[in-house]
Amino acid sequence: MTADRPGPLAHLDPSQPPRSLVCFPDPLRDDPALEAFLQQASDRLCQWWAGSEQRSPLPLLSVLPEAAPLQQGLSPDALLEDLQLVMDGAYNPAHPGAMAHLDPPPLTASVAADLVCAGLNNNLLAEELSPSLSRLERSLTTWMAEQLGLGETAGGVAASGGSLSNLMALVVARHQAGLASRQDLSVFCSADAHVSISKALMVMGLPKGCLQAIETDAEGRLSCEALAEGLLAAERAGRAVLAVVATAGTTVRGAIDPLAAISDLCRRHGVWLHVDGAIGAVFGLSQSHSQLVPDLDRADSLTVNPQKLLGITKTSSLLLLKRPELLAACFGTGLPYMEPSWADAHGGECGLQGTRPAEILKLWLGLRQLGRDGIESLLQGALDRRAELQRQLSVLPLTLRSGPLHLLAFTPSHLEAHEAEAWSVQTRQRLLEQQLMLSRPFYAGRHHLKAVLGNPNTRSTDLAAVASVIQDSLLP
Ligand SMILES: *Cc1c(COP(=O)(O)O)cnc(C)c1O
Repeated sequence: MTADRPGPLAHLDPSQPPRSLVCFPDPLRDDPALEAFLQQASDRLCQWWAGSEQRSPLPLLSVLPEAAPLQQGLSPDALLEDLQLVMDGAYNPAHPGAMAHLDPPPLTASVAADLVCAGLNNNLLAEELSPSLSRLERSLTTWMAEQLGLGETAGGVAASGGSLSNLMALVVARHQAGLASRQDLSVFCSADAHVSISKALMVMGLPKGCLQAIETDAEGRLSCEALAEGLLAAERAGRAVLAVVATAGTTVRGAIDPLAAISDLCRRHGVWLHVDGAIGAVFGLSQSHSQLVPDLDRADSLTVNPQKLLGITKTSSLLLLKRPELLAACFGTGLPYMEPSWADAHGGECGLQGTRPAEILKLWLGLRQLGRDGIESLLQGALDRRAELQRQLSVLPLTLRSGPLHLLAFTPSHLEAHEAEAWSVQTRQRLLEQQLMLSRPFYAGRHHLKAVLGNPNTRSTDLAAVASVIQDSLLP
């Protein structure tokens, strides 16, 4: 450090005027003011995490800073103060009582990777804009697809969320079947499938009637008998079937559709099988848990959302395919202003997104941080918490809805639907008063409360506190 260049924290000295922050990194020398700024932003983040348990999972409405830029740009300190105001009002996923949704605290290495990703500002659109990162995406999606059983020649692409992965899967299925000009199509999925499937059909310009929801069994799994009938009926009516969408981990209860039997039906009818494994497919990465989501290898395409349980910072989703070359065959339009791809196709030719960040970086670094053991124990911890809460709730007069994963929904057995709604509102509020946050899904005709047990900070005492509030809520 030279005399004319103050140290990183020099501008914090009240006797010195605040140093201004450069708007773009200096390409020639390191910049202590920039380092201090990034350091202070990350210090605030670390303090925000460290104070998680002092704040509710769901903060009260907070003061927001002004939205519009002022005439003059702000000083680094003013920027940090503004940032702090937004942080103070943010959802707080690291709180041990945060059990409402599929939004765990962030894996620390993926936070660092996200920062570096932003700093590199590469573009997965084309390889000349992301040379190392394009290759990393290709090798990690190939690895992931192989791990999940799709075979050595399988692969895929990262997407900003599972909704986009599901949409791309259906667009590829339609393209490879040569059905792009038809409207009289059917897509079968279970009544418990994610809303992103119907959204996808809407974006694809297909009429509402194309989506045929198949009933589920008592465990929330797609009924194969009903699917078989539906496929036969479509065949008799001369309707082409675009795809069957099976769900590996439904959103309310984590049910796993019977993939082998569904796949047999698909093969008999020559129909594409897309598996929406946004919640469940990560269990296939662990030897000791892969039997919870059997037969993922039957999928033609598979959605995986590492953002949901592994804690990879949002967004992190992959669309994996047995035949990844179908992506560019479907989405490729040519990028005449780019140098040719040195492999199969540019990132921007393999999906709907053009310019996109290298979201693969935080997934890769996060998985490397966890290691196979870490993945295993993260999954096991979530399952253990589910079992522990389920044990405590099972002695109460509740209807429990679960599957083999880490989700557990429940509703009082003895109440009418409208009473169950009032119960769910009041009980969620009582839980929140104790800094315990559950969600309130409407499922099977009535309101439930739902716990998602993917938060590694949740302790036995938190689960006992939930059970105790629920028990009190059921007293006459
Ligand atoms: C969350 C979820 C999705 C959608 O993923 P996003 O990342 O929220 O777009 C799709 N399918 C299932 C089963 C999900 O739970």
